[in-house]
Amino acid sequence: MDDKLREEINRRRTFAIISHPDAGKTTLTEKFLLFGGAINTAGSVKGKANSKYAVSDWMDIEKERGISVTSSVLQFNYDGYCINILDTPGHQDFSEDTYRTLMAADSAVMVIDASKGVEAQTIKLFKVCVMRHIPIFTFINKMDRDARDTFELLDDIETVLGIKTCPVNWPIGSGKEFKGVYDRKTKIVSTFQAISTGGAKKAEETDYHIDDEALKELVGPYLFDQFNEEIELIDGATEEMDIEKVRAGELSPVFFGSALNTFGIEQFLNYFLKMTTPPLGRNSSEGIIDPVTEPFSAFVFKIQANMNKAHRDRIAFMRICSGKFEAGMEVYHAASKRKIKLSQPQQLMAQDRKIVDEAYAGDVIGVFDPDLFSIGDTLTTGGKKFEYEGIPTFAPEHFCRVVQLNSMKRKQFVKGVTQIAQEGAIQIFQEYTAGLSEIIVGVVGVLQFDVLKYRLENEYGCEIRLEPIPYNYIRWVKDPTIDVTKLKRVSDVKKVKDMKGNPLLLFANEWVIDQVLQHNEGLELEEFRKN
Ligand code: GDP
Repeated sequence: MDDKLREEINRRRTFAIISHPDAGKTTLTEKFLLFGGAINTAGSVKGKANSKYAVSDWMDIEKERGISVTSSVLQFNYDGYCINILDTPGHQDFSEDTYRTLMAADSAVMVIDASKGVEAQTIKLFKVCVMRHIPIFTFINKMDRDARDTFELLDDIETVLGIKTCPVNWPIGSGKEFKGVYDRKTKIVSTFQAISTGGAKKAEETDYHIDDEALKELVGPYLFDQFNEEIELIDGATEEMDIEKVRAGELSPVFFGSALNTFGIEQFLNYFLKMTTPPLGRNSSEGIIDPVTEPFSAFVFKIQANMNKAHRDRIAFMRICSGKFEAGMEVYHAASKRKIKLSQPQQLMAQDRKIVDEAYAGDVIGVFDPDLFSIGDTLTTGGKKFEYEGIPTFAPEHFCRVVQLNSMKRKQFVKGVTQIAQEGAIQIFQEYTAGLSEIIVGVVGVLQFDVLKYRLENEYGCEIRLEPIPYNYIRWVKDPTIDVTKLKRVSDVKKVKDMKGNPLLLFANEWVIDQVLQHNEGLELEEFRKN
């Protein structure tokens, strides 16, 4: 066995950060990079003040709106580890890509705003993590602002998200009264100092043992007593740390801090890196594929078009699941049953894109895509021909009927819509009984409608009008042989089919879904579709 290969794979940690917009994901990512020493060369992730779209501003829409449409991958070294952060679009509108990115992550960091608790976006993303049983770490951010009661916050996570929590540290006060965090294992309190510069540097911290008189003086008698009462309570009120449960995604270690003030970040990273694992075996058509002993294999989880406008290229992002990638490598592409050379492998490092010569299991590379790849495709080497489990299709939440304004360009229109759907930015459906003359587009975030319109005009020369249709829920009919025209209580339901002919139902609200289920015995509906 190649020791270097094993060592490289073992030091990899690949994770995604999930949060509701504004909880502090970008700030936290920046601070992680700061510890990795990468920030100096790379600038900020999405420098708030001047440009919010530094990393992957590949389209005018992004610039106009100042948001990042696509997710990118940030790699840096810290304390001997090689860290891959799969940066996910935080904007509410871009969660389909976020969902898929979670399929490539080995664990997730969930950022929660201490004054708000669990928010809508967190719940959706969290469901995907739970489906995959990946470890979920919670960072409760913005403790320098008035926070909700700590027990209440934990209770919120447990009841809304349905995962047990175990606080690794515990905050003393919040807002103006935020004094620091107490590490339950070492019994050390790191005291909080706000930094005024926006957190470019790490604030001075002083550490005290919990029994140190100086701590009591610093915190003040009232807060100190309250804190002591709380830590007596925690032991009885919360779960014990159990690393196996953490790794099975059943127990979430919780940390408190302030990303803006670079407080609690280093402590978080140190625990997180030790508690998470390097890339583990991944399920395939031939069983679990070991990341170290098997030769290079990967799967595509994201396709991004026209990053470079001049070349109209597409980049397929793949997560390496086993072995080592070397530039110019010939791989087997299961979907087309062809051997291909992976050209222009790239890694994204904040603003820079660099060509990579080698990469290991756990890493993500982007390769030039000659219109060959689809989301979920597997690539193998060494004569292997297995396929990794597909990436599910997630239920879109907004739907429009597409009206083509220039009927002469029918061919380009169909090509454009199909290609954009293949990249996974939109999903296309047809009326159940009509042909391609009626196209319905479904998206996870409404901004994708603008992206579709923009791209059809700019890349395919097709003008379209989008007419919203009043449905927000879509469900796949589990048994595709069911004749949906015979279903009962479906006058408020729209029947459509996907491009493979699978029947789906569109609903206005969850109540209608319940009604249809109640009146059609044996009917099963699915929210994710395994491909
Ligand atoms: P994202 O949308 O989740 O990426 O959130 P950002 O990282 O962009 O943060 C949203 C806002 O919250 C920004 O104005 C940040 O400066 C601010 N912010 C982030 N972390 C903290 C924190 O610890 N304390 C305070 N007071 N503000 C924070």
